[in-house]
Amino acid sequence: GYAILNSEIINRSEAKVDIEDRGYQFGDGVYEVIRVYNGKMFTGKEHMDRFIKSSESIGIKLPFSAENIMNMLDELVEKNNLKLGIIYMQITRGAAPRNHAFPVGDVTPCITAYTKEMPIPEANLQQGVKTILTEDIRWLRCDIKSLNLLGNILAKQKAAENGCYEAIQHRGQDITEGSSSNVFIVKNGVVITHESNNLILKGITKDVILRVCEEKQIPVEERTFTLEELAQADEVFLSSTTSEVTPIVVIDDKKVGDGVPGPVTRQLQELFKKEIEKQCGN
Ligand code: PMP
Repeated sequence: GYAILNSEIINRSEAKVDIEDRGYQFGDGVYEVIRVYNGKMFTGKEHMDRFIKSSESIGIKLPFSAENIMNMLDELVEKNNLKLGIIYMQITRGAAPRNHAFPVGDVTPCITAYTKEMPIPEANLQQGVKTILTEDIRWLRCDIKSLNLLGNILAKQKAAENGCYEAIQHRGQDITEGSSSNVFIVKNGVVITHESNNLILKGITKDVILRVCEEKQIPVEERTFTLEELAQADEVFLSSTTSEVTPIVVIDDKKVGDGVPGPVTRQLQELFKKEIEKQCGN
């Protein structure tokens, strides 16, 4: 297939970066994952806006306009004949002799992107997934979609070793988010999820869910909730670009509610599907 390396679309096997690229040495860069349905990007603009925000927040200036990059991504999807899958895109500060401080002078940032086929995770969406709890050991700028993912990786690995799909992270008593997803609870018909501050990534999927809740007048509280509230919740689900709205039916070997996906989660799954159809067709 094809990949993007800076301003060019080339054979993926020819896309090479320098061993002193700061993304490789320091994780000095940011990324996005964008869903493609029916050969069309879903919430592409929102992802691009977040990409720009993330990169500006660490002082990396995009070498091309957002519009330019979006056009290249469209072209990449077309050239790779991608119908259902994802685009992975990242930007690093570029290659320079190793030194923690930003390189002085003009260093060209390095942008790469490629596509991958990925089915809709139907079984998880239908049956729900198992999760474990783990202390959130990450830094205090989780709002930046940084390439530095060690905390997230260790959390996800713990989940995998315990036969779970996701790890739900908490800072002391407060639930923050999954290792690669946002977490929601439903209590007495109210949808509750962590406010979008420095402690979590402001998920694009989360924002779509909050918007459809507002449109359908489903009550929402965007606030911190506790381990206790999680344990007492009627329903729990997670959201992400790749996982959409995935019910959580087990947390640390204990069933959530009756151990099956609940009605509000089901309704939000339906509403989310409609949003996809509106943008990408069916
Ligand atoms: N939080 C973290 C830590 C993530 O890695 C992700 C996945 N990108 C999310 C939340 C969900 O974000 P989105 O809905 O934009 O995929």
